Amino acid sequence: MKFCTLFSGSSGNCTFIEYGDTRILVDAGKNVKTIRCALQQIGYDLPDIDAILLTHGHSDHVASIKVLAGRYSMPIMGTYGTLDHVLDTCGDVMPSRLTLIDTDSIYKIGDISVNVFSTPHDIEGSVGYSFSADGKRLTIATDMGYVTDGTYELMKKSDFVIIESNYDTDMLENGPYPPHLVARIKSNKGHLSNVDCAKTICRLVTDGVCHFMLAHLSVNNNTKDLAMRETIGKLISQGVKPGEVTVDIAPRDETGRMFVI
Ligand SMILES: [Zn+2]
Ligand SMILES: [Zn+2]
Repeated sequence: MKFCTLFSGSSGNCTFIEYGDTRILVDAGKNVKTIRCALQQIGYDLPDIDAILLTHGHSDHVASIKVLAGRYSMPIMGTYGTLDHVLDTCGDVMPSRLTLIDTDSIYKIGDISVNVFSTPHDIEGSVGYSFSADGKRLTIATDMGYVTDGTYELMKKSDFVIIESNYDTDMLENGPYPPHLVARIKSNKGHLSNVDCAKTICRLVTDGVCHFMLAHLSVNNNTKDLAMRETIGKLISQGVKPGEVTVDIAPRDETGRMFVI
């Protein structure tokens, strides 16, 4: 399975996954032109995509759904809460393009199996996805107030985990956000902090997972350096030796490295 992030963060999210003849995008949180340019950089275009899976209805994940549904024929898949939100907020999306999926279910999209798991976030129907093909598994989990037991179980079985490292607590508490927004982000339906992310990664390493990507970093309340330092620092204090575990960071506005598992 091959994959790379095209964008990651509150200004737009999109991840490309390929196995065999099947290509999937997770989320479409930038305009169509920007997504096409990013795909072309890695040798593909939107007509090559077999399905778009939506994690939830926030605009940084669904920004171009209306245009995509009008111009392209691939199914756009999401839970009832997500599709309902898309239909409410994106105007006349072509309903025939939308495909309903259930949380805690497994779907087969071409050569790739997809586990859908719910994520605690401040919008109805929010989910993450765990992809498996040829005995390898990639799990993507962002936009979640905490890591549920169900999410952890899928992460634990993964060869690679893309996990949210959204905010540094000091920056969030002392930054420009009003108190109600700070409380929302820190709540158990908000986002995962650098500390929460680092703790989860350390636990996953003890369960045998070795490859990680930190994703959905806040532009206002985090830096790549702080996110990386938190996770690497905790791994080192846990006795992990250099080279035993890899940790990457998903770039905000450009295509990340292509990984193969
Ligand atoms: Zn988001
Ligand atoms: Zn969100």
